[in-house]
Amino acid sequence: MTPPGPRTLGDVVLLTCSDGDLAIAPERLFRDVPVARSAPFLQPVNAQGHAILPMHVLVIRAGQRLILVDTGLGPSSPLRAQPGTLLDGLAQAGIAPTAISDVVLSHAHPDHLGWSTSVVAGQRRPTFPHARYWLAGPEFRHWTQPQFLATVPALRDHLPVLAASGQLELPEGEVEIAPGIRLLETPGHTPGHRSVLMSSGKTTALVMGDLSHHPLHFQKPNWSSAFDSAPEQAYRTRLRVLQQAAAERLLLVAYHHPTPFGYAEHWGASYRWQPAD
Ligand SMILES: [Zn+2]
Repeated sequence: MTPPGPRTLGDVVLLTCSDGDLAIAPERLFRDVPVARSAPFLQPVNAQGHAILPMHVLVIRAGQRLILVDTGLGPSSPLRAQPGTLLDGLAQAGIAPTAISDVVLSHAHPDHLGWSTSVVAGQRRPTFPHARYWLAGPEFRHWTQPQFLATVPALRDHLPVLAASGQLELPEGEVEIAPGIRLLETPGHTPGHRSVLMSSGKTTALVMGDLSHHPLHFQKPNWSSAFDSAPEQAYRTRLRVLQQAAAERLLLVAYHHPTPFGYAEHWGASYRWQPAD
């Protein structure tokens, strides 16, 4: 699939680079929902009937800053056979890893951390050597507990290296990371999940992270995924953001939706995902 072209918001340019896809079983994508109810809405699916979820890494070009939001699943993962394509996509867009000024990690799940660090000549280092990495303090403290580091290879690979690099920022609450670009507290999917709100010109955009994994989450905001740390809180956060997004016509950036840019529209008593042109 050809990536969507860049979008311009005033002085800010948004483009996405794919790190490939994940395949997720319907009963994981929507826990507590019978597969017969969700399956008709899950196109595209693979041969096993698992939903195909892309990973759209966003690049924000704002003045002198070049900001990545999330870093895909990375070069190798037990969750997928093929290597990720993020660095190839950045190269095709003329972006060298050295040019990235900031990396926002919406949360610390493996499919968002993948290219944060890389092994070069036997040593693991930040992939983006000049970047400041942003991860919420509560998120870092949660996932660096010994039981998680012991059982999740991606956490063990990336978080200690980032912490030791001197490049990691761990803000507690809301924070402005660049002029007009803020990290918002959107907890529930994980304890310190963050979304990115930015305004430029007449448009305000919200990078949702994993507030929604699939367009069906807009119609059924209470259908939590098996990956939500706190499903009830994730539902409340999703609903709050959908209300705001529909009321203010926010341009939304969805990491795992088939196409990354769209809007929330009222649909009956709920919402629906309207892809942007
Ligand atoms: Zn994800």
